[in-house]
Parts: sequence; C-alpha cells; structure tokens
Amino acid sequence: MTQHSYSAEELKQKDQENIWHAMRPHTNQPAMIAEEADGAWITDIDGNQILDGMAGIWCVNAGYGRKAIADAAYEQMLKLPYYPLTQSHVPAIELSEKLNEWLDGEYVYFYSNSGSEANETAFKAVRQYFHQKGEGSRHKFISRYRSYHGNTLATLAATGQPQRKYKYEPLGQGFLHVTPPDSYRCPAEHTPESFSKACADEIEHAVTWELSETVAAVILEPIITGGGILIPHEDYLKRVREICDRHGMLMIVDEVICGFGRTGKPFGFMHYDVQPDIITMAKGITSGYLPLSATAVRKDIYDAFKGTDAHDHFRHVNTFGGNAAACAAAIKNLEIMEEEDLIGRSARLGEQMLQRLTDELSRHPYVGDVRGKGLLAGIEFVKDKQTKEPLAESEVKKVMAACKARGVIIGKTSDTVAGYNNILTLSPPLSLTDDDVNLLV
Ligand code: PLP
Repeated sequence: MTQHSYSAEELKQKDQENIWHAMRPHTNQPAMIAEEADGAWITDIDGNQILDGMAGIWCVNAGYGRKAIADAAYEQMLKLPYYPLTQSHVPAIELSEKLNEWLDGEYVYFYSNSGSEANETAFKAVRQYFHQKGEGSRHKFISRYRSYHGNTLATLAATGQPQRKYKYEPLGQGFLHVTPPDSYRCPAEHTPESFSKACADEIEHAVTWELSETVAAVILEPIITGGGILIPHEDYLKRVREICDRHGMLMIVDEVICGFGRTGKPFGFMHYDVQPDIITMAKGITSGYLPLSATAVRKDIYDAFKGTDAHDHFRHVNTFGGNAAACAAAIKNLEIMEEEDLIGRSARLGEQMLQRLTDELSRHPYVGDVRGKGLLAGIEFVKDKQTKEPLAESEVKKVMAACKARGVIIGKTSDTVAGYNNILTLSPPLSLTDDDVNLLV
C-alpha cells in the first residue's frame, strides 16, 4: 500500500473537516477513503478490499487499473496537454471518428466535461436550432418523472425526481414531465405493453395541449437508470420517435449511463430500433479516467448553424471541454472495449447475472421485482408483493449495509420525496470476472 504523510486516522479526520461530499448526509459516519483499485476492486486506506458493484457512479466501464489508458493520457499530456476547441486538436478529431463508428451514424460532436453539461449543451443547441429555422416559439422540453439528467438548473428542471429539485427552485423554464413506462408498477387495467403505449400517448397529449409549435424536443434515457432501472416495453421508444416526427420535435437520447456497453449494446437506444437526433454521453466515454462528455448532433441539425450571419454559430463554450488528454484517454478506453469485447461480455454476463438474481431472489417475500439489461440491474423491495407497497428505506439500507459488510458496494434509488427509495441497483465494471459475479449474486 502507498505510504502517506498522514496516518489513516488523520486522513479520516481531515476528510471530515475539509470535504463537502456529494449527496452525503452530514453525519459522523466516515466516508470510505479509496486509495487504489484494480479490475472491479477498490482498496481503502485501511487496506480493506471491496467489490465496486456500481463502477463508481455508474462509470468505470472498462474497470480500474488500466495502464494503457493512463499511458495514452500521459503521452498526450507531454505532446499537447490542452488546446481549446474554439480551434481543434488531433485527439478530438480521432475520437469523433471513433464515436461515429460506435454510433453507426453521422453525427457532429460538441465536447464538454460532464453529463450535465452535455445535456445543457443539447438544450441550448436545440433552442438555437429552432430559432435559426424560423421556429423560435419551440422552446419547451418534455422528459419523464423519475428521470435524472444532471445537476445544473436546466438539467435539474428536466429531471423528474422531486427530492433533488425542490430546494433549488425556481429552475430552468419550459420543462414538462410525463409518466415513465414502469412495467412493474403499471396500473391493473394495463399490460406492460398497453401501459407503455399509454405513457407514449401521454407525450402526444401534452404536446397537443401545450401546442406542438411551442415544444422543441423530448429528452429520455433508453432505460431510466438512477430512477430505478425502468426498462420500457420494446415498442416505447419507437412510439416516442413517431410522436416526435409527427409534431416536428427532436428526440434527445441521454446515454450518460446506458452508453458504452452498459446495457450489452454500444448504446442503449440500439435495443429499440430508433435513431435519435441528439445523443448525450459522458461517464463510460473515458471509464472515469478523465472528465469528458459529448453531445452528438445529427449533421443536418449542425448545418442549420452554418449561415453567414455573425449570430448563426453556436454561442456556447467551455474552457476544458474536449480536453486533449481526456480525448486520448477516451480513444484508448474504446479500443480496450473493442479488443476485449466488453460489450459482448456485458450482454453475456448480464444475462447470467440477471437469471441468477431472479432465481435466488424473486421468491423472497420482500423482493417485488428483479430486472436488468446487460450489466445494469435493479432489485425492487416491497412490503407486500400483492399491494407492491415499497419497503421502508431504512430496511433497504440494511440490505446495502449487509452487502458492504460482505465486501460489495451496491447502489440505491434515493427519491425520498416521491417514495422511490426502495430499489437496489447494480452497475459493475464490464470487465468484472465470473468470480466477481458470483460474489455480487
Ligand atoms: N444523465 C444521466 C442519465 C445521469 O445518470 C447523470 C449522472 O449520473 C447525468 C446525466 C449527469 O452527469 P454528470 O454527473 O457527469 O454531470
């Protein structure tokens, strides 16, 4: 283990004194201080090893300890650490080529540093696009309840989880929400298929009542992830695509978690036979080795910004977006995924993991549902399988704590305001071993 100038106890104390942790209640409960990691395993400053069943915050897709990614970033830093994308650099050009291979499409890429910025960029690009087309009245966005799209005032406005929002209001204007297709909780009169149709119809209903010429786009994850792993019926996205086309709206697909092999395909939307207009991506693009995100925009949308007027171009910049070393790390990360077929692995291991979780857990009286796609899974806890009343969060937390005591980190939905805090989540590195899967199960 690395030698510190501070003892482990001193580090814990300094951590409590100096670090404002993300999403962490202010209690005396010490944070886990990670020191090093390899594969799917983290070692903390006390030397404890723990299996990271969430790949950090759903992002270390290629796994920890990849020297090749570190080397690619290091070499790029020596050569050209940074140059802004108001001009250009080679890694950004090469990464865009590679992403178009992965997307099997022709997109133009605007690079930022985080998923929130990628979505924020999408919203601004869409609004300007419609201005440029002479349809400036189209400014509204539709998203789903239970979704998460980021921490900025606009991406939080798009988010459908009240507990993350209500103390920061007023947020960005012009964001509407509709019901998500939660197949497990579909009303008694519906099948998952008919409910998914009803949820898509709700978008059309909202568009009609809002006047379609005021609505710019729908933003959605292919599978709602942080809100509880909500896997739609296979027709849902196609129906949303049709509604967007019928009403002249764009379809933005948020692939921040579902992208880069997480669901067993390169991108989540690829399960559903649709072509989005805009795709936002982050997290797995570098597997967390360096911050990077991208907003992929269909070429003809980009073309609307090409006019000769001084105000036609996109008036949007971030200093670090598309950092050269981060792009180099991303390229190497994607090459590793290709060489090791981590997407195929995610599909295969994910299927096995889901089958085993279903076999082991679904008869348990408090397990209402086990669901997943690729190496993305959710286990929904209920007090009663008939009424589906959610199990108390305090009980679900005990399961998390028991997993931690056995050396496994898992995630949990957190919307205590809306009551969706009863679903445990799994999103491990795609490189995890068969033994790791055994331990997880
Ligand atoms: N979109 C989705 C679906 C996410 O899950 C997240 C973060 O978890 C974001 C956007 C925001 O990404 P970031 O935290 O990198 O800003």
